[in-house]
Amino acid sequence: MRLLLIEDDALLGEGLQEALRRAGYTVDWLQDGISALAALRDGGFDLAVLDLGLPRLDGLRVLREARAAGVAVPVLVLTARDEVRDRVEALDAGADDFLGKPFDPAELLARLRALLRRREHSPRMQLGFAGIELDPVRFEAHLDGQLVELPRREFALLLSLVEAAGRVVSRDLLQQRLYGWDDDVSSNMLDVHIHHLRRKLGAERIGTVRGVGYRLQAAP
Ligand code: CA
Repeated sequence: MRLLLIEDDALLGEGLQEALRRAGYTVDWLQDGISALAALRDGGFDLAVLDLGLPRLDGLRVLREARAAGVAVPVLVLTARDEVRDRVEALDAGADDFLGKPFDPAELLARLRALLRRREHSPRMQLGFAGIELDPVRFEAHLDGQLVELPRREFALLLSLVEAAGRVVSRDLLQQRLYGWDDDVSSNMLDVHIHHLRRKLGAERIGTVRGVGYRLQAAP
């Protein structure tokens, strides 16, 4: 099991990393919000433990932006401020569980085991439109039953279009989905990714609505 630990307190981070490794997890430890968001978007983790008070980008924003980009990994939030409002905000931002500091590492380990059990029992998630099937948990895309290899950026864009189910998705919204993937989110980058998607899916499946954005359409 690969776990992403995001905690800026060096002492607590070291202790947690050690406890998690002893419990059998492969641990990647990051100490700021920007690197955390990049790592979450890159994917490959089974679990994440996220502190809320982080330098460079607040933990709540990390979580909101990761969820908006289709990142589905179970996240346990650590919060120093033991207030109901913080817990509500964390859950609304897409946290699966939370733990108030200070806590006993044994409770953290038990809660992580519970999250993994919940994930194993959750049904396969599938979203589909116009012959395209996406599994946002496994990052798998199928076109008319055939697996299509898509880099994460293209997958995130396609997910927005599939979720809209044929309605137009604005260029602004699609560019937000790319935010964090590309350092320079120019409108040109969006065109490049759309071009690649059209090449892989068939040009006719992604329609351009001039001056507005894009939409998926069934193949003729
Ligand atoms: Ca902190």
